[in-house]
Amino acid sequence: MAQTAQEVLKWIQDDDIQMIDLKFIDMPGIWQHLTVHRSQIEDESFTDGVAFDGSSIRGWKAINESDMMMVPDPKTAWMDPFMKEPTLSLICSIKEPRTGEDYDRCPRVIAKKALEYLQSSGIGDTAYFGPEAEFFIFEDVRFDQTENSSFYFVDSVEGRWNTGSDEEGGNLGYKPSYKGGYFPVAPTDTLQDIRTEMLLTMAKCGVPIEKHHHEVATGGQCELGVRFAELIQAADYLMTYKYCVKNVAKKYGKTVTFMPKPLFNDNGSGMHTHQSIWSGGEPKFAGDQYAGLSQTALYYIGGILKHAPAILAFSNPSTNSYKRLVPGFEAPVNLAYSQGNRSASVRIPLSGDSPKAKRLEFRCPDATANPYLAFAAMLCAGIDGIKNEIDPGDPLDVDIYDLTPEELSKIPSTPGSLLDALNALEADHEFLTTGGVFTEDFITNWIEFKLDNEVNPMRLRPHPYEVALYYDA
Ligand code: GLN
Ligand code: MG
Ligand code: MG
Ligand code: MG
Repeated sequence: MAQTAQEVLKWIQDDDIQMIDLKFIDMPGIWQHLTVHRSQIEDESFTDGVAFDGSSIRGWKAINESDMMMVPDPKTAWMDPFMKEPTLSLICSIKEPRTGEDYDRCPRVIAKKALEYLQSSGIGDTAYFGPEAEFFIFEDVRFDQTENSSFYFVDSVEGRWNTGSDEEGGNLGYKPSYKGGYFPVAPTDTLQDIRTEMLLTMAKCGVPIEKHHHEVATGGQCELGVRFAELIQAADYLMTYKYCVKNVAKKYGKTVTFMPKPLFNDNGSGMHTHQSIWSGGEPKFAGDQYAGLSQTALYYIGGILKHAPAILAFSNPSTNSYKRLVPGFEAPVNLAYSQGNRSASVRIPLSGDSPKAKRLEFRCPDATANPYLAFAAMLCAGIDGIKNEIDPGDPLDVDIYDLTPEELSKIPSTPGSLLDALNALEADHEFLTTGGVFTEDFITNWIEFKLDNEVNPMRLRPHPYEVALYYDA
């Protein structure tokens, strides 16, 4: 793997690579790309950037000020495994052409500012993130997303969607039982080979791979395990993860969805996010408090729990996200913390005696999140908790699902909808702007974008289930 611009240029030279694919993250969290011939890449490209028209990128510039610069990060170079001609891939951040400053609506820039905020606060120099993105592999999906259609539905083809079988027509013989997908061997698990190929393809792109397995839901729910990394790199890895997973699925004639709740009444897909802060090579979260945590870690949890409703506007940013955050499917509903207890939204995983492995897992996020924004928001909340010594209260070491309604009513819960989360963000975002990480403009733009493009179009559409309920009313 290359580290510097010189190394990347030498790589291009030595291997006679003709094409360079420049990828960058848009505001909602999708990779966009521009492929240039090698003649367009030189030393200065890595400092000044490569020009492109940013006017049609969702949530960015207006037509009258559309020129932007993509600045490739040499540490992100890998050969793109899905392109026929040898093509070197580079992940970019965005710069303003006139001022030469980092573009403050670029999510990767926001992630960088979050890290700088951590460093300037004196709390630590490194924040590690380890997201666990779950997804479904489906045989085939048909949906109607035309602008004017009143129905928007995801459907299986001939019942094959949920059979867990590769055979034509769906042989039910080896179908996993309801919620029984975690994790019998083949032939019940029909997705072994595809997951292995996804994982090994990711490794070729420089992602430090660990494992893969089927998940709980019957209809092809899977998870690949990747080693934690420093904040920006962890977000880069997650984008590479989604890219490899989707493109390998396509090779097999299948599709993948990271939407949090594609199937009614079955487990949804989360993106539990492990996190810890380090300083001078020392873990700041290990100590002699509850669950072997430090007081710093407890305050960090206090910040996460306090700001969770606003964080969710970034970490759970789809209308579908809130169909996952309901009781009964291993998804968190209550804003509480606990050791080992998977029904709390913050869990402290058992990490043996190793202080280095001491971390917390925030279980709310899902992979519709833009990871740069979601990780930055979580880190800002944690920093706010530490700076203001926010007490997270007592841990909840019971199964939260077993509590009586009265006991439960004392525990705050996750927002019920994207609209609620956006309202929470509107009311509570100083923790995101104080360190100069998110601008006021970004937050206003985000809320407007989500309302106009997702919340309202969804709210205004008659739902197929409403037709079933009310057609004959
Ligand atoms: N799918 C569950 C969720 O929605 C998590 C299951 C697990 O990894 N234990 O968060
Ligand atoms: Mg996992
Ligand atoms: Mg999982
Ligand atoms: Mg987990």
